[in-house]
Amino acid sequence: MRLLVLGRSGQVATELARLSGEGHEIRCLGRDEADLSRPKAAMGAVRRALEAFRPEAVINAAAWTGVDAAEAQEDAARALNADAPAAIARLAAETGLPFVHISTDYVFDGAGETPFATDAATAPLGAYGRTKLLGEEDVAGAANPAGWAVLRTSWVFSAHGANFVKTMLRLGAERDALRVVADQVGGPTPAAAIAQACVSIAETLGADPRRSGIYHFSGAPDTSWAGFAHEIMARAGLDCRIEEIPSTDYPTSAPRPLNSRLDCRSTEAVFGLTRPDWRTGLDRVLTELEARP
Ligand code: NDP
Repeated sequence: MRLLVLGRSGQVATELARLSGEGHEIRCLGRDEADLSRPKAAMGAVRRALEAFRPEAVINAAAWTGVDAAEAQEDAARALNADAPAAIARLAAETGLPFVHISTDYVFDGAGETPFATDAATAPLGAYGRTKLLGEEDVAGAANPAGWAVLRTSWVFSAHGANFVKTMLRLGAERDALRVVADQVGGPTPAAAIAQACVSIAETLGADPRRSGIYHFSGAPDTSWAGFAHEIMARAGLDCRIEEIPSTDYPTSAPRPLNSRLDCRSTEAVFGLTRPDWRTGLDRVLTELEARP
């Protein structure tokens, strides 16, 4: 499939780029080519890329992902997380292309202990979640007849960029013990699996735009950040003790949802995509990092 991706060096964008050649042609647009903090101006570049590359679908892997920074810069976060996807969704609809947009568990308030259904009430706790929710609404509101999907995911990790796995590996090599939050539960999700899911969804939408909607995709089994950290240390062979602490002992500018469990059953039913086992994804990331000079 020929795909235009917004984002180039991000975690998911990098994994999408890697699918080039594996039966897909992927063109990634980085912020140097289309600066989505100025969505109107950026659409000129996106339009030109669409004309030159002639993709069969568009995937938005670009976002403002600084959860705490968004608290003080909500307008800037909104431009990237809401205004940009709104503009891309309109452009995709206008040019007759399916559009896959990635969103987050942070649109929920994290109450309860059961997985959030795709139609569960949203109630973001902070600016990042608020701006991502606006983006979802805009993408759905564009009602792209060629097909659209909002794919909510959580706790993304990969061998590149900044993420929890890389932080744990760095700190675990330096320290004997680490205090890690144990009362936030969710599904760590390999960026590689998200990339493959996006392509698969784009293919299905291309064939049947009636599959449009909001979907969930997160790694299994659900665990806490401390549980994830234990597994990272064990699999990386690091002798670092994980001390489990409550979120109240690790204050952040933006509050985090305690329950980030996502009910992914409709994604499996509609697209045949099962939740990826994050432990397998973690082993792959560790192997990739070890192979680096
Ligand atoms: P990263 O933070 O790794 O990458 C962000 C991407 O956004 C980069 O490709 C970057 O472009 C692009 N970007 C940032 N600013 C601009 C700008 N001004 N103009 C154009 N592009 C810009 O993100 P992830 O891969 O981790 O996240 C992918 C998606 O998953 C996002 O929608 C995010 O909200 C969502 N998500 C992420 C989670 C996580 O834990 N990280 C959890 C849940 C959902 P460039 O390539 O040029 O640097």
